[in-house]
Amino acid sequence: MTKNKYGLNTVCTHVGEVKDTQFKGAVSPIYMATSYEFNDVDVKRYPRYFNTPNQEFLAKKLAALEHTESALIFGSGMAAISAMFLTFLKAGDHLVVQNTLYGGASNFIREEFPKFGIEYTFTDGYSISDFEAAIQPNTKLIHIETPSNPLLTITDIEGVARLAQGNGILTTIDNTFASPVNQNPIVLGIDIVMHSATKYLGGHSDILAGALMGSEKHMAEIWHVAKNFGGNLSDMTVWMLERSIKTLGLRVKAQNKNAKRLAKFLMKHPDVKKVNYPGLKSHPDYELAKKQMKGFGGMLSFELQDGLDAKLFQKELKLIKSSMSLAGVESTVLSPHLTSHALLSQEERDKVGISDQLIRFSVGIESKKDLITDIEQAIQKTKERIRVQL
Ligand code: PLP
Repeated sequence: MTKNKYGLNTVCTHVGEVKDTQFKGAVSPIYMATSYEFNDVDVKRYPRYFNTPNQEFLAKKLAALEHTESALIFGSGMAAISAMFLTFLKAGDHLVVQNTLYGGASNFIREEFPKFGIEYTFTDGYSISDFEAAIQPNTKLIHIETPSNPLLTITDIEGVARLAQGNGILTTIDNTFASPVNQNPIVLGIDIVMHSATKYLGGHSDILAGALMGSEKHMAEIWHVAKNFGGNLSDMTVWMLERSIKTLGLRVKAQNKNAKRLAKFLMKHPDVKKVNYPGLKSHPDYELAKKQMKGFGGMLSFELQDGLDAKLFQKELKLIKSSMSLAGVESTVLSPHLTSHALLSQEERDKVGISDQLIRFSVGIESKKDLITDIEQAIQKTKERIRVQL
């Protein structure tokens, strides 16, 4: 763990700026060159080596955000996940991974690992005893996701880190849903943190990117593999990501506040059957979330009462968009069974509890009142439509 000299919003704004020594501009210049001098230089720079000026400097900001030494920026969250897994796992190794997981990561494991001869076990749940029971003599890595997509389950980060350390196993985490504002897993003992930077780090639904953060030693190992896969991010987008992160602390704190209010509103609503949000006292792991998170995040999921069709409801929303991704400043909803978890079988979804009625809600920064009004009118319209159909 590395201690930061500055507070969160200062890290977001200033750490990892590329200084404009020529013109003294207030923001980082963009270096678009794909070709750099190689004679008598300390660093031989090339975009696919993750070491152009913009990549090198933004990596400092990302590492600081997760209180660690080093980071690499990728072309997508999946490019980061795949480079991470294929660095630390080889033929004959075994991965333990929780079953409440982002669908893309789940697909990657099920579809690609057999080709590389890598074994894996999806745990029955996400408690420490589930992880412990899944460990085998050849287990090299435990991967967790908390809060998880889309059920917002909470995994005990310190507990998993302790279990893994006791067994000489490495740990990785998908920290996308929490963002570095709400949760810093390296401080809690995890080895490598992964983010889909497409989400909160980008925050405006206009950047596809990924990031890995960890010790210099672990990141050097990842770099050796990642440069062969070629999944770096273009410098133009690296620059956009740097700009976006300047407001990360402000955005995420506003989203935390709105999500908590919306979760409480939905919880009390007679037409809502269930709400999954770690900041609600009714969440089974509320105390654990309170212990390991600094804020409960901007993501929640919910189910309307039986008979109120989730798809009809989403179509009736006027302000909140039904949209594939998450974590932008604008509020969005989606049905995980049609999107993020569509490639899982019905049986796999049933096993973890992703019903066709589940709606994932990414709460934005709009006025709370307007979001509530939109949900209320959409519920009433859905009821009317169903009445007409009957
Ligand atoms: N992890 C989580 C929790 C996600 O929600 C996503 C995408 O939705 C990813 C990883 C993959 O990121 P990307 O789409 O940037 O490849």
